[in-house]
Amino acid sequence: MKQENLRNVAIIAHVDHGKTTLVDRLLWSTHVFRANQQVEERVMDSNDQERERGITILSKNCSITYKDTKINIIDTPGHADFGGEVERVLNMADGALLIVDAYEGPKPQTRFVLSHALACGLRIVVVVNKIDRPNADPEGAIDKVFDLMVELGASDEQLDFPVVYASAVNGYARYDYNDGNMDMIPLLDTILKEIPAPDVDPDGPVALQVCTIDHSSYEGRIGVGRLHSGTMHEKEQVLVVRPDGTQRSAQVRKVYTFENLGKAEVPEAHAGDIIAVIGIEDADIGDVITDPENPVSMPPIAVEEPTMSVVFEASTSPIVGREGDIVGARQLKERLMREKEANISMRINETEDKSGVEVAGRGVLHLSVLMESMRREGFEFQVGRPQVVYKIDEAGNKLEPIEEATVDVPNDYAGKAIEVMGNAGGIMEDMASDDSVTHLTFKIPSRGTMGLKTRILNATHGEAVLFHRFREYGPYSGEMPGRKNGSMIAMSTGKAVAYALDTLQERGRLFVKPGDECYEGMIVGESAKEGDMVVNVEKTKNLGNQRSSTADKAIQLTPPITFTLEEALEYIEDDELVEVTPQSIRLRKRLLS
Ligand code: GDP
Repeated sequence: MKQENLRNVAIIAHVDHGKTTLVDRLLWSTHVFRANQQVEERVMDSNDQERERGITILSKNCSITYKDTKINIIDTPGHADFGGEVERVLNMADGALLIVDAYEGPKPQTRFVLSHALACGLRIVVVVNKIDRPNADPEGAIDKVFDLMVELGASDEQLDFPVVYASAVNGYARYDYNDGNMDMIPLLDTILKEIPAPDVDPDGPVALQVCTIDHSSYEGRIGVGRLHSGTMHEKEQVLVVRPDGTQRSAQVRKVYTFENLGKAEVPEAHAGDIIAVIGIEDADIGDVITDPENPVSMPPIAVEEPTMSVVFEASTSPIVGREGDIVGARQLKERLMREKEANISMRINETEDKSGVEVAGRGVLHLSVLMESMRREGFEFQVGRPQVVYKIDEAGNKLEPIEEATVDVPNDYAGKAIEVMGNAGGIMEDMASDDSVTHLTFKIPSRGTMGLKTRILNATHGEAVLFHRFREYGPYSGEMPGRKNGSMIAMSTGKAVAYALDTLQERGRLFVKPGDECYEGMIVGESAKEGDMVVNVEKTKNLGNQRSSTADKAIQLTPPITFTLEEALEYIEDDELVEVTPQSIRLRKRLLS
C-alpha cells in the first residue's frame, strides 16, 4: 500500500555544490525555522569539523512537511571512506535529489554516489544549482549528467529524469532557469510528484533493519532505519535477528521519528517512515528488529570492515614538555573505550602489551576525524604509522584491502597520471577521454594510496582529481614497484601541496638535503624540522622513464611546519610518530626505549 502522505528522499551531491544551503532553504520555506532562529545557521553539517573539511561525516536526517505530506530528507556522506554507509542510507529512500553545480557539472563524488543511487533503483530528480553564477551552463551540466547516467547503466525510467533549476543561496527553484520564479515551490512540488511514496504493508508484522547507529549519553544506543512493515509501538516486545542469524528477544523503550530538525518521541510509528528505536541494548547495523510471533527476514546489508589501523599512545614527547604519565594514559584509554560504544564502524582494542589502543577504521580520513575530535577536546597523544589491516583466508592466503581509484585529468597529463598510479601498484582497468579530459579507473592496493594524492597532484601540475574507495579484499600483491619506502619522507605544510617543481621554492615545501636524489614532482627530504634547509631542485635529467634530479640549491624554510592530520598520517614513516596536541601536529622520530 502506498503511503501517499510520506516521501523519503536522499540528497546526493559533490562537496560544495550546495547540498547544505539547499536543505536549509527547504526547511526555511516550509517554516521549520522559528521566527527568532537564525536562518544562516547551517543545518546538516552541524559538526565543526564537517564544516571545516567540507565533508559530511555522519549521515543525518531531518524532515519537512509540505501539502500535508511529510518529506524525510536523508543526507548522504559523499566521501569514499564512508562508502558502505552510503549504500545503507540510500536504501532508506525511494528517490534522490542529485544536486549539480551549473558551472562545474558532475564531479567524482557525484559519480560515486550516483552510481549507488542508480543501483538501488532510486528515481533521480536532478537539481541544477547555482544558476545565478556567472558563466553557469545549466544545459551543459544536464547533458553531462545524462551522459554519466548512461555510462553508469541507468534504466530508461531513470534516464527520463525531471530537472529543477535552483539558486539555493538566493532561495529559489525554477522549472525553467530564466522563468523568474523566486521561491522553492517548484522543487517541493517536483518531490511530491516525482518521488514515489513508500509502498509498504502497514498491517504486516513489524520489521525494521538497523541502517545507522546513533548514540546519546542519555538514551544510549539508538538504532535508525526505515520501518519496512507494520507499526512500531513504544514498549513493543520484539525479536532481534543478527546478520549471522542469532536471535534474542528485547523490548523497545521509545520510538522517535524525524520531525523538522530533530527527533520527536511518538507512541507509535508507521510503515515507510524512518524511525529511531531506543532501548535495544547492543543494537548493531544490519540487525532486523521484528515481530516475535511472525518474524520477517530481510536480506543482509553490507557493513564495511576496517581497512586501516593505528596505535594510539599517551604522549611521551620532550617537545611538549611532559613525560607520558599514568593519568594521561588512563584518560586516553577511557576516551577511546567510550568511542568504542558510540562508533561501531571502528574497531577499538587495547594492544597486547596494554601500552596503547589500536583503532581500526575505514581509511586515513575516517581515523583522522576521531583524532581531530580528541585534539579539540584537549587530549595529547601520539600515533604510529597507519597499517593496512590484512586478512588470511581459509586456504591460508594473505589478503589485503584493494581499492578502486578514479582519476580525472586533462588529456596532456594522462601519461603522467598513469605512471604515478602504476608506481603505487595501480592496475588500469578503464580509460575514456573526450576532447579535454581523460577518465581513468584503477584497481590499487590500499597501501599504495598513502600519499598518492600529493604525488599525483605534483606530477600533473595540480590538475588531476583522484578519488578512491575500498572495493574488496584481494590477494596480497607483493612489494610495490618504484616506491622507496623508508628511504624518503614526503612532507607538505598546508592543505595545498606544491604542484610543480617550479612552484616549490615559492611555496617552501620541498625538504631535501643537498645532494639528495629526488624524482620529479616528489616532495622529499629526511627528518626535516623547523629551521631546516629547504632545497630547490634545479637540474632534471632523464633516468629511464622517471626523471630524476639532484638537489643543489638551498633556501631557508619558514617555520613552523604544520600538518593537517591526514597529511601527517599519509607521510609518516615506520620509525616515526605523529604527535598530536591541542596546539600542534608534528612528525618526529620514535624514541628508542
Ligand atoms: P555542500 O558542501 O554541498 O553542503 O555545499 P554548501 O551548501 O556548503 O555550499 C557551498 C558553497 O556554495 C557555499 O559557499 C554556498 O554559499 C555556495 N552556494 C550554495 N548554493 C549556491 C547558489 O545557488 N549559488 C551560488 N552562487 N552559490 C551557492
